[in-house]
Amino acid sequence: MPPLHHRPGGGFRNPWANAPAPAFGGLLKWVLVHRTTRPRPIDPDPAIFTLLEPKVAAPRAAADRLIVTWVGHSSFLIQVGGLNVLTDPMWSARASPVRFAGPRRWVVPGIEFAALPPIDLVLLSHNHYDHLDDRTVRRLAAHHPRATWLTPLGLGGFVRRRGARDVSEHDWWQETRVGPAVVACVPAQHFSSRGLRDRGTTLWCGWVVLSDAHRVFFAGDTAYHPEFARIGKRYGPFDLALLPIGGYEPRWFMRAVHMNPEEAVRAFQDLGGSRTVLVPMHWGTFKLTDEAMDEPPVRTRAAWGAAGLAPERFWLLAHGESRAL
Ligand code: ZN
Ligand code: ZN
Repeated sequence: MPPLHHRPGGGFRNPWANAPAPAFGGLLKWVLVHRTTRPRPIDPDPAIFTLLEPKVAAPRAAADRLIVTWVGHSSFLIQVGGLNVLTDPMWSARASPVRFAGPRRWVVPGIEFAALPPIDLVLLSHNHYDHLDDRTVRRLAAHHPRATWLTPLGLGGFVRRRGARDVSEHDWWQETRVGPAVVACVPAQHFSSRGLRDRGTTLWCGWVVLSDAHRVFFAGDTAYHPEFARIGKRYGPFDLALLPIGGYEPRWFMRAVHMNPEEAVRAFQDLGGSRTVLVPMHWGTFKLTDEAMDEPPVRTRAAWGAAGLAPERFWLLAHGESRAL
């Protein structure tokens, strides 16, 4: 029996009850009806987002240090186990198939591309334009040719065709060794597509990086689903949990694919771990959905406080900000 998240006949699906992929009809209803008939919250001036000077260890941090730097959206440089790891690298001006249209960056990348230290590992969560960028993949493959690329099933060819050499595809719960670290592909509730007829043909996932000294969980793009506790049990307790907090309105359409702040805090609690630090992501960089650009961290902080969690374990990073554990 193939696993439940493998579609009979090829491709992938969410295996949990009440986790349907958003239908195309829903997209039309959102864009043509919901958005035109309801007032949308007002966005702040992009100038409210501060850009800090990153404090990256160059060329690498010591194996027993953990430094995380927010590039923006779901892109991080994580220095862990002596490795330089990038998640969902996105350096382009727009999250779009074309360069003249589509959601534009609100804040420039927190690390200049040319200032990146040598990259050892790139982790890709899925193929949406805000996470998998054609031009960024080509630039990384050209300038960091020794990097290892890990992708979910079906996505290896995309990066190989753009010049990446060391590429492997992974199914949920598959583990692989990268230098001194063990990296595991873990479930997420989401979907994939870059065109009109390719929905679900490639997989989506989160990643766990385990070094001798630290454990990091990068959730990818995900709705709230029942497996966070299992991820925590198998690979935790984590030092750092990078969870998405934005992209949730309107709820009737987005709840199947993105967590809202309250669900992100619940997922964080499901992971367990009494020392784990939350690093919010997937907000403040591209305007993708209807909530105001500055709402996700406000609501996350409120949910965090309501859950009685320690304020010092909530690391709300500014773009470009680095923090060390
Ligand atoms: Zn996505
Ligand atoms: Zn996304």
